[in-house]
Amino acid sequence: MLSYQHAYHAGNFADVHKHLTLFAVVDHLLRKDSPVTYLDTHAGRGLYCLSSEASGKLQEYRNGVMPLWRSREALVRDPLLHAWFGALEEAQSGAPSAKGESLDQYPGSPWWLASRLRSRDRLMLFELHPGEHDHLAGLALPDNVRQIHGDGLQGLRQRLPVATPRLCVLIDPSYERKTEYAEVADAVLSAMRKVRHGLVLVWYPLLPAGRHRVLLESLRDEGLRKIWRSELVLHDPHAGEHGMYGSGMLVVNPPWGLERRLSAAMDSIIPVLGSTSRYRSGWWVEE
Ligand code: SAM
Repeated sequence: MLSYQHAYHAGNFADVHKHLTLFAVVDHLLRKDSPVTYLDTHAGRGLYCLSSEASGKLQEYRNGVMPLWRSREALVRDPLLHAWFGALEEAQSGAPSAKGESLDQYPGSPWWLASRLRSRDRLMLFELHPGEHDHLAGLALPDNVRQIHGDGLQGLRQRLPVATPRLCVLIDPSYERKTEYAEVADAVLSAMRKVRHGLVLVWYPLLPAGRHRVLLESLRDEGLRKIWRSELVLHDPHAGEHGMYGSGMLVVNPPWGLERRLSAAMDSIIPVLGSTSRYRSGWWVEE
């Protein structure tokens, strides 16, 4: 069953939280010369046109990237947001004079990773949905990027360890099936057994049913250490609204200094996202 299409949700508050975290992590990795292999297990199509029919249907970007984009003049006082908005501006199409005025393209994780790739790094993008993979394969990306049509968790198992000294994995499923939380936990544990120093990011939704607990508790109970979590909560889970009330990110082996930089950026954007929004972060399992 592959009914999920990220175009309907592109640029929502969860994307902002996820991509800002990813951007900050990559920024830390780029401080050292040694090459990195990146694996994006659930890549999506890579770039989303916000004026498309799909994105226009739910217009989730209106509670996510759009209000931030409109407030960016004030938000760029934060150094991480300054760099992030600069990258977002680069993703916009149109004549150079129009650049930076309107936001019509929202980049997905493949774009955020590919745009900061150095020639010595590698990037593998897995996407199972044939149509989404076709879009991804059609993007003009550097030679050291591979767009792979296939199962990302299986791909992760098969391709580890990697040839480079450093590894960074993003696992961002749609959680269409309840069993995906446990499958993701298994995949992380198996990856960490092969590459103990690997940096792994996992996105999860905060839903009233609290299914993400399976993921968090499995990782802790199996003895994995150094798991940091970051959560953006848009509104109270009991406020009477259905669906996703928040976005979570786990970072296994987080780079030193990530918490400080990301918290500063998140604290700046919280007032723009609305009076019921909150941000929290901290160790789920310490060393
Ligand atoms: N990571 C993307 C981003 O940040 O822009 C969004 C990914 S979206 C939440 C999840 C994607 O995973 C969908 O495009 C879906 O087709 C794809 N997918 C679902 N199951 C998969 C699997 N087993 N392996 C690889 N891709 C899968």
